[in-house]
Amino acid sequence: MSRGDMAKPLLGHGSTEGDPGVTPTSGRTIGVLGSGDFARSLAIRLVCSGFKVVVGSRNPKRKASLFPAAAEVTFQAEAVKKTDVIFVAVFREHYSTLCDLADVLAGKILVDVSNNTEINHHKESNAEYLASLFPACTVVKGFNVVSAWTLQSGARDGNKQVLICSNNQEAKRTVAEIAQVMGFTPVDMGCMSSACEIENIPLRLLPAWKIPIFLALGLFLCFFTYNLIRQVIHPFIREQKNKLYKIPIEVVNTTLPCVSYVMLSLVYLPGVLAACSQLYYGTKYRRFPDWLDQWLQHRKQIGLLSFFCAALHAVYSLCLPMRRSHRYLLIETAVKQAVEKKMNIWVEEEVWRMEIYISVGIIALGLLSLLAITSLPSIANSLNWREFSFIQSSLGFIALVVSTLHTLTYGWSRAFDENQYKFYLPPTYTLTLLVPCTVIIAKVIFSLPCIRHRLLRIRRGWEKGRYVKFVLPSATGEYSSGETSSNV
Ligand code: NAP
Repeated sequence: MSRGDMAKPLLGHGSTEGDPGVTPTSGRTIGVLGSGDFARSLAIRLVCSGFKVVVGSRNPKRKASLFPAAAEVTFQAEAVKKTDVIFVAVFREHYSTLCDLADVLAGKILVDVSNNTEINHHKESNAEYLASLFPACTVVKGFNVVSAWTLQSGARDGNKQVLICSNNQEAKRTVAEIAQVMGFTPVDMGCMSSACEIENIPLRLLPAWKIPIFLALGLFLCFFTYNLIRQVIHPFIREQKNKLYKIPIEVVNTTLPCVSYVMLSLVYLPGVLAACSQLYYGTKYRRFPDWLDQWLQHRKQIGLLSFFCAALHAVYSLCLPMRRSHRYLLIETAVKQAVEKKMNIWVEEEVWRMEIYISVGIIALGLLSLLAITSLPSIANSLNWREFSFIQSSLGFIALVVSTLHTLTYGWSRAFDENQYKFYLPPTYTLTLLVPCTVIIAKVIFSLPCIRHRLLRIRRGWEKGRYVKFVLPSATGEYSSGETSSNV
């Protein structure tokens, strides 16, 4: 494959950043129709990026002072005559008022930057509507996902992408070049039929977070109810003791680590299921079921929510001794011991358990913080693939193991104490161990040489039931190749 071919995106939605075919276009004149917030920010950014800007307004005299001195502010018809690329920074409902300009606009590129107020607000996208009003123009949809504020402050990490679509490749390329010179990353979204999807993007509220948030809330509700029964309802029914005061802090604080720990294991469980599927079918080319695909795609959000719950758990735990109830109980215990004339209350095992439990918990939180920080786009972009997968996969798995130690040292021998079985319900920590231990055991099994080797071969393209040419590194690090059959 030639270097030029390699530079072309393999997928339709690939970024055009770094495309050697893109030539710098700063210096050319760009038109902007409208003098509102977006037009102003766009003009400032264009001027800062080295473009000449001509703004078309219905009232240029009044609006000129709002624009940088380097930008020319004139009447709409005058402005569009001076350039071939015009950003239409006007709301959709006012497009029809631009129809008088149809003749001067003919043959030019119109960039539709508009957004709607509702998802799928109109039958046709704003860009398609603009194209229908100006059939002699080439319409490109773009820049609508960038806010006026981002334009003014400059492209920053996280919101650098500008999604672009058009039926005309050349026009799309021109707008992509402009975006690139402005410091944005143009992303080719294909032809005009994608405009509707692009216009819906700024209106979607945290689309990738919905499932993880519902998952976290569901787990929280289940564990909260379970802990409430054990810590509040059980003492009330069995001993007529009012323990309602435990709800805001103690019950919440025993629920948060359960949610965090189970969520962390749910980050690694889909990987285990995917590996099982690949081992079972003996191929990596079989599509995973949709639910597993979705799950794999939401691992980052699930991991971040796990970190959020762990951080809250740490703060709640630090606040435990501040409570009045805690102080009363301490004094009550001290008085009881004084009455019973108990002088030495030091329990060596308990002291060690607590020291290890807290220390391991701090390490687990530290590792989770590292995972959360490296999942931020700005940090992730600065890591190469090996570093990213080492942190997210290996360190993440270590975090799961350390969290398991934290849970086990918390529970210690409680699982074997029959007083801990309230209404025959086992201690909460024993329930939380279920999924994480399954993941850890599965990972250990996958690391056995015979299974690891098979999994590696499958991930390099080997398939059960097919003769393939394979090349694998030998134990000495040298590569060996040969023909093999699946059943070998
Ligand atoms: P705006 O502040 O209300 O400006 C709209 C401009 O449209 C007016 O300043 C006006 O300029 C011009 N216009 C032309 N014909 C008009 C008419 N018949 N009636 C009223 N105004 C007319 O709005 P904006 O926030 O800049 O948004 C402009 C476009 O950018 C919208 O389509 C919006 O969806 C899109 N957008 C905005 C943002 C943002 O952060 N603001 C982000 C993404 C996309 P003259 O009076 O000088 O003609």
